[in-house]
Amino acid sequence: DTVSVRRALLSVSDKTGLIDLARALDARGVELVSTGGTAKAIRDAGLPVRDVAELTGFPEMMDGRVKTLHPAVHGGLLALRDDAAHVAAMEAHGIGAIDLLVVNLYPFEETVAKGGDYADCIENIDIGGPAMIRAAAKNHAFVATVVDVEDYDALLAELDAQGGTTMAFRQMLAQRAYARTAAYDAAVSTWMAGAIGQDTPRRRAVAGTLAQEMRYGENPHQAAAFYTDGSARPGVATARQHQGKALSYNNINDTDAAFELVAEFDPKDGPAVAIIKHANPCGVARGATFAQAYQRAFDCDRVSAFGGIIALNGTLDGDTAQAITGIFTEVVIAPDATDEAREVFSAKKNLRLLTTGGLPDPRSTGRVWRQVAGGYLVQDRDNGFVTAKDVKVVTKRTPSEAELRDMLFAWTVAKHVKSNAIVYAKDAATVGVGAGQMSRVDSSRIAARKGEDMAEALELAQSPAIGAVVASDAFFPFADGLLAAASAGATAVIQPGGSMRDEEVIAAADEAGLAMVFTGMRHFRH
Ligand code: 5GP
Repeated sequence: DTVSVRRALLSVSDKTGLIDLARALDARGVELVSTGGTAKAIRDAGLPVRDVAELTGFPEMMDGRVKTLHPAVHGGLLALRDDAAHVAAMEAHGIGAIDLLVVNLYPFEETVAKGGDYADCIENIDIGGPAMIRAAAKNHAFVATVVDVEDYDALLAELDAQGGTTMAFRQMLAQRAYARTAAYDAAVSTWMAGAIGQDTPRRRAVAGTLAQEMRYGENPHQAAAFYTDGSARPGVATARQHQGKALSYNNINDTDAAFELVAEFDPKDGPAVAIIKHANPCGVARGATFAQAYQRAFDCDRVSAFGGIIALNGTLDGDTAQAITGIFTEVVIAPDATDEAREVFSAKKNLRLLTTGGLPDPRSTGRVWRQVAGGYLVQDRDNGFVTAKDVKVVTKRTPSEAELRDMLFAWTVAKHVKSNAIVYAKDAATVGVGAGQMSRVDSSRIAARKGEDMAEALELAQSPAIGAVVASDAFFPFADGLLAAASAGATAVIQPGGSMRDEEVIAAADEAGLAMVFTGMRHFRH
C-alpha cells in the first residue's frame, strides 16, 4: 500500500519551510506543481516548478478566488488509480495523477485576530484550498495530504524510510486534514455569527446537531441550546421523554450527572438510586428493591431532595414511582419503566420521565470538553475505578468486609461529587455528602452536619455518621480533615493517599483507631 510520490501540488499561504520542502522533494525526483505565489517562491529559489495554470489551461482569476477549482486538479486528486474507468477518464481528459498535496489555507483566523474588516475577512475565506484538502484526504488510498508546516519533516522521513507514503501515514494525514477544514469552517461561521449580530447558542458551529433550543440557559437571561454529537451512549441526549415539558439547561446537566453516577452501580448487584441537585448527589443508595433504594437515598437529605433529579440503574416500577411522587421531583431517568410506573406518573404533569433502553458503560472511554476564554479544554472522561484488590491498607487496623464494601460505595459516589468531596456511607447508602468546598475540612464538616440533620429528620438516636465510613476524592493534605471525620464518628477512611504528610495522617488515623485504605487514584471533579 506504499504510494511513490511522482507529482506534488504545493499551494501555501504560509511559506515557512516551503523552499526546504520543495528542494527536498525535487531532490527525490518529485515533479512540483504550484499556484501563483507559491510557484514564484519556488522558482525564485532556482527550483523547477509548473504552474497550475498550465495544467488547467486557465489563468488564475478573480483575485485568486479561482485558481485550482478545475477537473485537471480535482481529477488528479480524486481519481482511483486502480479503477479502470477512472484511469480511462484521466487519459481521455489529459489529467495527471497528483500523489501529494501540500496546502495551508488563507490566514482567515489571523485576519480575524488582527481585527480585519468585513471585506478583509471575507476575502480571506479560502475556497480552493479546503476543496483540494477534502478531495485529497478522501482519496487517501492514493494521495497524501499535508496541511501543516509541522508535518513537513515527518513527510520527508516517511519518503526516505518507506520510499513513498504508507496507508497508515496517509490515513493519519487525512484525519488531520479534516480536523483542519472543520476548524477552519467553524472559525468562519463563528466569526460570521458575531459579524452579523447572530452569535446565539443555536447558531454556534459545533461538531454536533442542534437538538433543542432551550427557553434559557443556567439563568433566565442566558440563551441556550443543546447539541447532540451522534454518540449512541445511553443517557439524556438519546433518551425517550414520556411526559412533561421540555428539559431545561440545568435539567439536562443534572440528569446527565444523575445517570452517569447511577450507572456506576452494576444492576447485577441490585437496585441503586441517585438523587441529584445542582449536579451533586444529595443521596445515593442501594436497596433490595428500587422503592427501598429510593427511600434510603431520599433519607440522606430530604430537604435537598426536593425538586431533585432521580436516576435508577434498572426498570422503574409502580411502587417506586408512587414513592417518588411523594415530593416534587423534576426528572426521573431509568433504563426502562413499567406500564404501572408510567400510569402513576401520568397524574404528575410536571414530572418528566426519561427512559434510555440501557445504562452507559462507566468504564468506556470518551472525551469531555470545557470552554475557557479563547479555547477549549479536552480530557478523557474519568473512567477510572478501583476494586477491593486495588486498595492498600495503611493503618494498624484492617477494615472489616462490611467497611470495605461501604468504602468502595462511598468512593464511587465521591467520584461524582464536586471537589472537595467528602462522602459518608453506611450499609450502601450515603449518610452525608460534603461537596464543592474550597477546603477539605469544610467539606468534612458539612458532610458530618448532614449526618446530624439526617438524625434529626429521621428521629434517630444518633448521627448515622457514627460507625459509617468516609471517602475523600483526593488526599487529606493534613490530619485535620481526617480528624474531623473521626470526631463525626467515621470508623474507616478511603482516600487516594500521596500527600507529603501521609505519615502524619496515617498516625492520626491509628491514634483514632480508624482503618484506612489508599486507592492510589484521585477523582477531582470541578
Ligand atoms: P499562492 O500564494 O500560491 O498564490 O496561493 C496559495 C493559497 O491559495 C493557499 O492558501 C491555497 O489554499 C489557496 N488556493 C488554492 N487554490 C485556490 C482557489 O481555487 N481558490 C481560492 N480562493 N484559494 C485557493
